[in-house]
Parts: sequence; C-alpha cells; structure tokens
Amino acid sequence: MAELTLTDFERGPLPVAHGFSPRAGGVSARPWHSLNLGLSVGDDPAAVVENRRRVARAFGVELESVARLDQVHGAEVHEAAPGVMGRDGDALISDDPRWLLAVSAADCLPIILVDARLGAVAAVHAGWRGAAAGVAAAAVRALSRRYGSDPADLQAWLGPAIQGPCYQVGPEVVAAVRADPTVPAAVAWPDPTVAGRWRLDVPGAVRAQLEASGVVPAAIAVSDTCTHCAADRCFSHRRDAGRTGRHWAVVRAPG
Ligand SMILES: [Zn+2]
Repeated sequence: MAELTLTDFERGPLPVAHGFSPRAGGVSARPWHSLNLGLSVGDDPAAVVENRRRVARAFGVELESVARLDQVHGAEVHEAAPGVMGRDGDALISDDPRWLLAVSAADCLPIILVDARLGAVAAVHAGWRGAAAGVAAAAVRALSRRYGSDPADLQAWLGPAIQGPCYQVGPEVVAAVRADPTVPAAVAWPDPTVAGRWRLDVPGAVRAQLEASGVVPAAIAVSDTCTHCAADRCFSHRRDAGRTGRHWAVVRAPG
C-alpha cells in the first residue's frame, strides 16, 4: 500500500512537525481524486478514512490521535482533549505531542502557530468569515492564556489558500473584514473585470491581525501557493464549484 511521507506535504519554516496535505497520494475517485480528507463532500467514507489514516501515519500517529473540530467559520478556540471532536470551533491548541491538530480547508486559509520556547502549537481555519471574526488573534490569546505564551515568541505559517488576485467577493465581504481596525484597507481592491465586485487578500488580512496581536512580522511566513491556480496540487472550492475534496493542515507539539 502506498504511504505518504512528510516530504509530500507543503511546509513552512517552523521548527515542529507540520504541513499541508497534498492532493495526490490517496484513494478517492473523481472529482475527489485523490487524497480527499473531507467526509461531508459526497465522497466514499471508506476512502476518506483511508486517506485520513495515511496523513496521520505520515506524522507518526494513529487516526484516533487526530484532533478535529466541526468548523463553523467562527473564532472559537478549543484545547485538544478527549471529547473535543465534534465540537464547534475553528482553532485548536495543544502542548501535548500525542495529538495531531488538524484543520480542514479548500481555499480557506490554514494557519499554524508555534511557541517553540514553551512547546505549544495552534492550528487555525480562517476564511473571510473567520478573518472578520478575528480567529487568528483569538488563537494567539488562547496560547497566552492557557500556556503563558508571549506573542513575541510565536512563529506563524499561513498555508496554501486562494490568493487575493483570484478571490472575487462582494462589497459586504470587504466591509466585514475591514471592520476589524487592525486590517488595512489595502487588503481589498476593486475587481478589474467586474464593476461592483472586489478582490480580497485573506492571508494579508490575517498577517496584519497577527502583527497587531504581537507576533513579530519577520516570524510570519506566508505560502505563495494559490489553491485556485494550483489545480494539480490543490483542491479549490471556488474553481471546482464545490465538487471537490478537502485538505488538512496539521501540526504536532514538539513535546
Ligand atoms: Zn490563483
């Protein structure tokens, strides 16, 4: 049986085991080919479970050690623990290396935060709604409250997502994200092709939110992979009109 390895995952410059799952290397049929990790997108559940198992094994854990939430595009943060699965939320934190924290995405922005000094990590899911809700800042606050993290010690990786030039939105979306005073107006600009529409740079908005939370600008790395453009490597909800798979971004505390 084919197995995934860590080198199959896109990774940022973080000193812990982490990554964004590839599109290839799984067992799902079209249009979820092939490493679809989403159970609620119409794929064969047995294929999804096998795919998830491959991801967990690449990080040296069993499926039972993967911590996941029911993502609701909000700003609620939970600590990984038995029983956390199935709760609503969009960010997980842990300092326990027995857990592999996972967030699901296919255009939305996955964010990994690491406090290497204290051995604490976070996995965060942020689409435009999560950005508007301030989920990245909420995760920084949760790391501080729960583990005593100093935001100035954090390192961040903003993983593959739909990038601003490909992300057309309406004015109500722009207004919602810009309502956060820490988000600069320049994260959105008028769509060059359709009057009344806009383009929105969600990773840029989240970077500004992290910096306002005290994360050092030089400690924030941003993937240049656009899920909408990289059809060979990425599922994209937009590009594939909803008929597509889901990636996981995962991280494990160093222990
Ligand atoms: Zn693109």
